[in-house]
Amino acid sequence: MSVSGLPPYDPQNIFARILRGEIPCKRVHEDEFALAFHDINPLTPTHVLVIPKGEYVSAADFHANAGDAAIAGFWRAVGKVAKDLGLEGSGYRILSNMGPDGGQEVPHFHVHIFGGRRLGRMMPRE
Ligand code: 5GP
Repeated sequence: MSVSGLPPYDPQNIFARILRGEIPCKRVHEDEFALAFHDINPLTPTHVLVIPKGEYVSAADFHANAGDAAIAGFWRAVGKVAKDLGLEGSGYRILSNMGPDGGQEVPHFHVHIFGGRRLGRMMPRE
């Protein structure tokens, strides 16, 4: 198990393959620390994923094991992408799913940026 309790990093996960250029993506931003691209199955008018370039399964894994520059660079990219997408005025939501209860499909740490419409409640009540 990784530091987060989730399985170890799988280098064949879909985002690792996107990072290696084996699978195309609609890129909106790339720098030393992060890659941002449109979600293949958008849930909102704007739905972009931001992923760190390193191999991290979860938030716990990323924040425990990435260097300070990588962590700062990643979050700086998240803010820049949201701003560059024009969401700063209207607002947006950042969300990250972790593990089975979080509904994480792709085991490479990532955040979703949702925007382009009123997003309503944070989460439906049970
Ligand atoms: P998770 O549930 O892991 O937080 O979200 C994974 C997201 O990755 C989903 O919203 C899904 O639509 C997106 N996704 C899965 N495969 C691909 C792909 O090959 N390309 C892109 N651009 N997005 C993908």
